[in-house]
Amino acid sequence: MPPILELRELVKHFPGQRAVDGISLAIPRGSFFSLLGPSGCGKTTTLRLIAGFEQPDSGEVLLRGEVVNRRKPYERNVSTVFQNYALFPHLSARENIAFGLRRRRSGGIEKRVEEALVLVGLAGKESRRPAQLSGGERQRVALARSLVLQPDVLLLDEPLAALDPKLRKQMRLELKAIERRVGITFLLVTHDQEEALSMSDQLAVMNNGRIEQVGSPEDVYLHPRSAFVAGFLGAVNWIGAIGVRPESVRLCPAGNGGRPGAVTGSVFLGDSVQVMVRLASGEEISARAARGAAFRPGDAVEVCWDPADEIRFP
Ligand code: ATP
Repeated sequence: MPPILELRELVKHFPGQRAVDGISLAIPRGSFFSLLGPSGCGKTTTLRLIAGFEQPDSGEVLLRGEVVNRRKPYERNVSTVFQNYALFPHLSARENIAFGLRRRRSGGIEKRVEEALVLVGLAGKESRRPAQLSGGERQRVALARSLVLQPDVLLLDEPLAALDPKLRKQMRLELKAIERRVGITFLLVTHDQEEALSMSDQLAVMNNGRIEQVGSPEDVYLHPRSAFVAGFLGAVNWIGAIGVRPESVRLCPAGNGGRPGAVTGSVFLGDSVQVMVRLASGEEISARAARGAAFRPGDAVEVCWDPADEIRFP
């Protein structure tokens, strides 16, 4: 079976800019896949090329093994959840969700809309218009409106960006659970590494219009293939050519065979304490210590880590 979505050497220029610079990807059916990268790296443009809102200068977009470059957006079985939700303000939640089905003259609209309302947890609020819903509820309407169309691929462009941090975390879990339940392939675009790490089966890290690395969250986090990927996914201490993440660094009193250094400061993080250490070799590194650990500026310490946790590039 071909991948549900495949990109082959996609290129898109804007004046003075190669926004997408030769992207190739194969996205397995039913997976949760994320495009992760900093602002301006070409994520949204890639999504727009898939949806058909932009035309590539070269390269191909394939859905279910068929090249769809020449198809209009509505002729591609993909649906997009936009960052601003793009709901119809004068329609109720129910009518917003039913809109695409009515336009397609689909059968069983009532039942499908009811199921979608339950799926996203909006039952009881179906008569409200967008202005009478919270940000999180509007986001659910946008999601339901796309899911109800049963697309081959659901494209999500920073869908959680407008939510407050607590709700964002809750919606991450819900999005993932919904994806599991409906079995539709989700392609998420985000610049938030925690979001991509927590939800994705696979993710692609993008930089300057190119893909730097593709893999499972664990693989990409633990075995980044470039300093860019290592740094984008989380904090890294660089000690010569070796990278070590702060949570992998252990602090112990002097005389334990680690690298010697002196504490320069500490920050309470709630669940742990971040301790900064200047090594005798000159590097300033940060380590995570258990809450309650007492390290004071000037304390002589040693740092060590498991060699298996080292990040190295060939
Ligand atoms: P963000 O996370 O900020 O949305 P992004 O990774 O999604 O960023 P894109 O929106 O794909 O990035 O933009 C990639 C580059 O192409 C940017 O430098 C942007 O300024 C440029 N660009 C995007 N759309 C256009 C356009 N219609 N005309 C000209 N330049 C564009």
